[in-house]
Amino acid sequence: MSAAAQSNEEHRSTRPATKIDHEVVIIGSGFSGLGAAVALHEMGIDDFVILEREGELGGTWVQHDYPGLEVDMPFFIYSYPFEMKSDWSRVYPTGPEMKAYTLHCADKYDLRQRTRTGTTVDRAEFDPSDSLWRITIAGGETIVSRFLVSATGLLVQPRMPDIEGIDDFEGKIIHSARWENDYDLTGKRVAMIGTGATAIQLIPAIADRVEQLDVYQRTAIWLLPKPNPKLSRAIQRAFEILPFLQVLTRWLTNLVVEISMGMGMIRYSRFPWIFDWIEKKAVEYIRGEIDDPEMAEKLIPNYSFFCKRPSFSNSLYATFNRPDVELVTDPIERITKSGLVTKDGTTREVDVLVCATGYNVFNRTCTPGYELIGKDGVNLGEFWEENRFQAYEGATVPGFPNLFLFMGPYSAAGASYFTMIDTQSKHMTRCLREARKRGANYVEVKEPAHARDFEKVNRRRSGTVLFAGRCSTANSYYFDANGDTPGIRPVTGFEHWLNSRFFSLKNYLIEKRASGNG
Ligand code: NAP
Repeated sequence: MSAAAQSNEEHRSTRPATKIDHEVVIIGSGFSGLGAAVALHEMGIDDFVILEREGELGGTWVQHDYPGLEVDMPFFIYSYPFEMKSDWSRVYPTGPEMKAYTLHCADKYDLRQRTRTGTTVDRAEFDPSDSLWRITIAGGETIVSRFLVSATGLLVQPRMPDIEGIDDFEGKIIHSARWENDYDLTGKRVAMIGTGATAIQLIPAIADRVEQLDVYQRTAIWLLPKPNPKLSRAIQRAFEILPFLQVLTRWLTNLVVEISMGMGMIRYSRFPWIFDWIEKKAVEYIRGEIDDPEMAEKLIPNYSFFCKRPSFSNSLYATFNRPDVELVTDPIERITKSGLVTKDGTTREVDVLVCATGYNVFNRTCTPGYELIGKDGVNLGEFWEENRFQAYEGATVPGFPNLFLFMGPYSAAGASYFTMIDTQSKHMTRCLREARKRGANYVEVKEPAHARDFEKVNRRRSGTVLFAGRCSTANSYYFDANGDTPGIRPVTGFEHWLNSRFFSLKNYLIEKRASGNG
């Protein structure tokens, strides 16, 4: 057989019986999905589509729009390393600035025209006979792709509090993730349920506007001041003409985070003094800011720093000193049609109930958030719920070939969400480059490699603050129903960075499979 004929024959034998619509389908158009798209483009794959269920692309920073919304990571580490921006207004950008940055990235990398908004994925099923994914969209359409990238984010499914009587409340109920800016809070009596990272931004932002603000705290949050200087024109200009300055700042910030988080959190059992010192400073901050000593004590958490996500604010504690803001720590017993009743029998009448009560994370309904069926008919959400959340290097799962996860179980290590996007992009493109080199259409992580990785995260976690610290009273969403913490990979960011670049490709089955070879 001639070389050309042989090549044609090979092509035919790996060509699926079914027509492929796109080489890659990416589900989700937040920073992960957009980052995955840029990584694919850079390695030469342009035949992809991004499916986004919302009406606008962009994810978190486009969907969230509550008063006071601000990033709580410096922009040096909370932005794509390949798309640095020099004209941020402050070190911690505002929500609207982050939204503009998201849309700018989508435009610059030509991703708008590759995104189908208003497209909800109901189901994705791997077809082993053709080594491809069939993705079913709400409404019935099916899209066929060779590879699937699941980039649906973590904090996407708002959680309402399951408090008796909430459905009887006759006033206005708003969840912070679905803020209604055209609803005017001026002069209203407001109850805020929650004191997490969202509430601590909302409370100071709305206190001036409302008549009375009752803040219901179930678990106090560790809070640190947030030095947030404006970026002068001179600094913006310096970042613009000397981009390496921003790269340097990014690496220095990463270094600081690696030392404080890598040693403080990941190696807590060896270096407990780091978080002890931070806790001491945070307690001093509370006592220095809060006028009423009794209230100050109520704001001091009774668990180790970072058992649940700490936050940053310069204005929260000052807001609690206001006469029209009350910190309520008696547990809520029930909600009536016009107010909230606490266990001590007090009723506080309100017009508006703001639920800053967070999100469902790492359970079957939201991770992955659609039916994801592998080569043997296994449903990934069910598998995870029954067998614990797990993924090789946070990226791939045996039995789910040609699938890459962003923000999968144990994928996040290091400074910020963008660190995760970088490591998972590298992991994905290393596999896909190798597949291209071998002319392969089938990429699956091997079970032993996956098992070793899961054993490693289970072993390593014992030294982290999550397992060696005092976390039992933290009520932290870091812990799932199995008592695992799949949102955090118990390794330093540097180690995860290295692994994403140098993991052994022998851990994967990467091969060319003929059609009908399931
Ligand atoms: P969260 O951290 O899960 O906080 C939810 C709050 O609601 C907690 O205080 C929780 O109390 C309380 N709560 C929930 N159900 C309750 C109930 N039935 N009764 C009383 N209190 C109840 O959610 P979040 O504040 O929205 O933050 C989620 C994550 O979003 C953060 O960890 C962070 O990663 C991210 N975030 C980032 C930014 C930023 O970068 N700018 C801003 C906001 C949020 P318990 O603690 O007792 O459960």
